[in-house]
Amino acid sequence: MAKINLKLLKIEAKKEIKKTESLDYLNKIFDKYLGKKGIVSEVLRSLKSLPQTKRKKTGEAANDFKREIGELIEERKKIFQNAGYKIQDTHFDITAPGKKPVSGHLHPLTLARKEVEEIFENMGFSVVEGPEMESEWYNFDALNIPKDHPARDQWDTFYLENGLLLRTHTSPVQVRYMEKNNPPLRIITIGRVFRHEATDASHEVNFYQLDGLMVGKDVNVANFKAVIQEFFRRFFEKPVKIRLIPSFFPFVEPGFQVDMTCLNCEGKGCSVCSQTGWLEMMGAGMVHPNVFKNSGLNPKFWQGWAFGMGFDRLAMMKYKINDIRLFYSGDLRFLNQF
Ligand SMILES: [Zn+2]
Repeated sequence: MAKINLKLLKIEAKKEIKKTESLDYLNKIFDKYLGKKGIVSEVLRSLKSLPQTKRKKTGEAANDFKREIGELIEERKKIFQNAGYKIQDTHFDITAPGKKPVSGHLHPLTLARKEVEEIFENMGFSVVEGPEMESEWYNFDALNIPKDHPARDQWDTFYLENGLLLRTHTSPVQVRYMEKNNPPLRIITIGRVFRHEATDASHEVNFYQLDGLMVGKDVNVANFKAVIQEFFRRFFEKPVKIRLIPSFFPFVEPGFQVDMTCLNCEGKGCSVCSQTGWLEMMGAGMVHPNVFKNSGLNPKFWQGWAFGMGFDRLAMMKYKINDIRLFYSGDLRFLNQF
């Protein structure tokens, strides 16, 4: 008989088994290789005629082939059985229960993000991004928070061995953008930020922030009110009012806290808004002259507003979710509701 290369034969057999679509065909493969008249039996029978030196080696290889290919065929058989095929029945069982294909869907934060981006884009804003690993300069100094400033305590973060840190807000993107682009400009950033703190229902070590900036020759607080009120109205699909309350943030002057009419009671007062009719939504203000200077713009020529808010919180209010940790838990019972 012709010399048989068992190594090559094994590769071929494996391919054939993988391609099988029916038990019938699988049985044929078995016969071809491992059956009484199969190739391996033929090899074993021919051992007698081989020289003593080759006999042992070839015998071992043949048995090895028999064992390995036999196992693969058995495995393949089991797949057919589990899938509803019946042994000795080559027909597809149309009465077997169907298998629903698992199709994925977007995460609630992604859904909210797409919606926010679309609203701002329709108002002439560009969506920009920046690095999550940031330098101290962009994260703090450039935003008018020098090393000894007490505000740094509020934004404790993770300092990395390479000298960088995980950004505590998306505002560094504003500075990076102003360095490279001349006003007038309108941008928003939605991105992941980090805080070194204990987690609870409303705090996570990493969460998302929405950050906006508008700069021009005469951009003012009235523009800010109009844009933000319109954003909330479109996002929550309800008419809303906003109010500004004086507040302090190092990177703006003047700064204000922005409240929105409570969506739950529409301003009448309820437990969600502690009976005030208002919900605190974001921090904002007119861009501080030092921030312009640090970004390479002359504050004598340019003015603008900026805001920053917790993006998770926005999504939580939209979808009425009461625990921020649900977004990151990977729990399908939660995620499949979207
Ligand atoms: Zn309320």
